[in-house]
Amino acid sequence: MSSNNLLLTPIEYLKGVGPSRGELLRKELGIHKYGDLLNLYPNRYIDRTRYYKINQLQNNIAEVQIIGKIINVKTVEFAKGRKRLVATFVDETGQMELVWFQGHKWIRESLKINEVIVVFGKCSSFNGVYNMPHPEIELWSEHQQSLRSAMQAVYPSTETLTNRGISNRVINKMMQQLFIETQALFSETLPDYLMQELKLIPKNAALFNIHFPKSANALAKAQFRLKFEELFFIQLQLIMKNLIQKHKIKGHPFSKVGALFNDFYQNHLPFELTNAQKRVIKEIRTDMGSNAQMNRLLQGDVGSGKTIVAFMSMLLAIDNGFQACLMAPTEILANQHFLGLSELSNKLNINIKILTGSTKTSERKIIHKELENGNLQILIGTHALLEDKVKFHNIGLAIIDEQHRFGVEQRSKLWKKNAIPPHILVMTATPIPRTLAMSLYGDLDISVIDELPPGRKPIQTVHRYDSNRLKIWKFIRDEIALGRQIYIVYPLIQESEKMDYKDLMDGYESISRDFPLPQYAISIVHGKMKPADKDAEMKRFAERKTNIMVATTVIEVGVNVPNASVMIIESAERFGLSQLHQLRGRVGRGAEQSYCILITDHKLSSDSKTRMETMVRTNDGFEIAEVDLKLRGPGNFMGTQQSGVLNLQIADIVKDKEVLSVARAYAMQIVNSDMGLQKPEHAVLKAVYMELTKKKNIWNYIS
Ligand code: ADP
Ligand code: MG
Repeated sequence: MSSNNLLLTPIEYLKGVGPSRGELLRKELGIHKYGDLLNLYPNRYIDRTRYYKINQLQNNIAEVQIIGKIINVKTVEFAKGRKRLVATFVDETGQMELVWFQGHKWIRESLKINEVIVVFGKCSSFNGVYNMPHPEIELWSEHQQSLRSAMQAVYPSTETLTNRGISNRVINKMMQQLFIETQALFSETLPDYLMQELKLIPKNAALFNIHFPKSANALAKAQFRLKFEELFFIQLQLIMKNLIQKHKIKGHPFSKVGALFNDFYQNHLPFELTNAQKRVIKEIRTDMGSNAQMNRLLQGDVGSGKTIVAFMSMLLAIDNGFQACLMAPTEILANQHFLGLSELSNKLNINIKILTGSTKTSERKIIHKELENGNLQILIGTHALLEDKVKFHNIGLAIIDEQHRFGVEQRSKLWKKNAIPPHILVMTATPIPRTLAMSLYGDLDISVIDELPPGRKPIQTVHRYDSNRLKIWKFIRDEIALGRQIYIVYPLIQESEKMDYKDLMDGYESISRDFPLPQYAISIVHGKMKPADKDAEMKRFAERKTNIMVATTVIEVGVNVPNASVMIIESAERFGLSQLHQLRGRVGRGAEQSYCILITDHKLSSDSKTRMETMVRTNDGFEIAEVDLKLRGPGNFMGTQQSGVLNLQIADIVKDKEVLSVARAYAMQIVNSDMGLQKPEHAVLKAVYMELTKKKNIWNYIS
């Protein structure tokens, strides 16, 4: 039996594990088989060749080991009915306490008084006495016989595991046992030529050195090899999936660039397209002109002009005899799209309608009918488009704006409506860092509008403290005197909703006092208002009937009032970077110089400081997204939950982005030159690929 078959052995068969530990490993760490344990990579490494004396202890040393003796053990009640077990531990330089909060009985029985032992764990001091909670303990005589290196692996663990006696030392022993039973003969997973080109060490050596590093250098090589491998196979699968999708899923080929598109392009374009817009339209045209279904993500910073791209794509659908729809996450946004696109459509005599939650029944009936008989060419709307009653005659293109608000199922619901799915264009203004996009959407094609329309003045952003408010108010008065309009945004976080509403209303009242009628008029919009009231207020502001819009983040997405030139964000430290950037994108849409003022408290965490500095430094959404990714980690990015980026075993999407790029380039090259992985040198890849796709774990999220 080769080691690889052995890796499928249930974990309880490993010597020293057994059924009850096996159960714990399954539950706590998801380790079912030998192979899962082998892939439990250490979080870090510690030096187990160094021994501390008690009088050398300091706070904040990560972990220490000390040789000494326990001289007594007692149970101490520290709160009503809550006990802890305390052992006094001494060496020749002093004394300290070993403490347990749980599992007293069997620990107490296992503790040996006056025998030389080695304790290992984290220390902290309380009233001048050091204590070590839940230490690992080993008899000195046994300790001397076990193997130790200057880099001992520290594995991920859980409280339950520690409390149930599966300490790091125990996991280390299991790992040793695993290497003994399998004789460490793990088969290679990468082709020779690739290993040579990239100077990767063999899989065997990598696995050994990740668990039992011989040196820092050996460890680094092991890490690189395993990270590369992990990212490479993810990319390989994503790229293959994309290709298979293109081969399998037939789309409607839009073979014509027809009358409407040409008429619009030649006679009605409201402005000259930027090069980026032209390039993206071409990419979309090529996609939709082929026999395969388009699945494209269109990224473009706020204000980069995605709407016109969407519209011209719709024209292609209509020219080829199909209907098109555009779905937006909020009613305000849907309305805005409808207004904008109606203006363009009317010039071309296109039948366009809007369907939202507040569409009247009579109108709804007309829409349903016209949709089914094909008279309606473009339908704009919200989630309402997903209702079962909404049936298209022949939908050819579905555009989804601000995709992060829609779940994956919703997306697929749209295209399950017809036998042949429509082409899908997902538009997002939340720039996703390239590295993340590659992992998240590796199976979507990506277009980027990386150029703003000409003549835009970069928004000037400043960071001010609460104490500067008088000056800020003066600035607002000056801007209003120049005919401009102002947004003032308050945070609204679900957990503190009540407080936040109070802040918002207090703010609104004080602003109303400082900017009184009849000279000034103020709008307010927040989530608790009825949609109709919200829209009415937005409309008043858009029609310049009010000077200031006080709002929560409901205005975050897409709202377009070009005359608004100042965005003031209250308690800016409470917003995430991408949210701040989205909010700022509400201004700077007209010809005037625009401003964004971030108001915060004096006390700021270092992350908050970084966020403010980043906003002040740059207007580039992609740069901001990179910083955001560094600050928050990939877990908080929309969409990451579904993608498996979080399930990475060893690579880190932020720290290892260079490795990711290399891995992707190689995967791409291999798929392009040998899609079926038929070449002999790729046999090894094919075997791993088949094994991975059998598991079907993460990549089936889009279809
Ligand atoms: P977003 O990408 O945020 O959806 P929009 O499509 O709403 O951006 O465009 C923002 C503004 O820029 C709109 O007022 C639009 O008319 C204008 N715009 C778009 N493209 C161009 C262009 N090529 N030249 C000039 N103005 C443009
Ligand atoms: Mg938009």
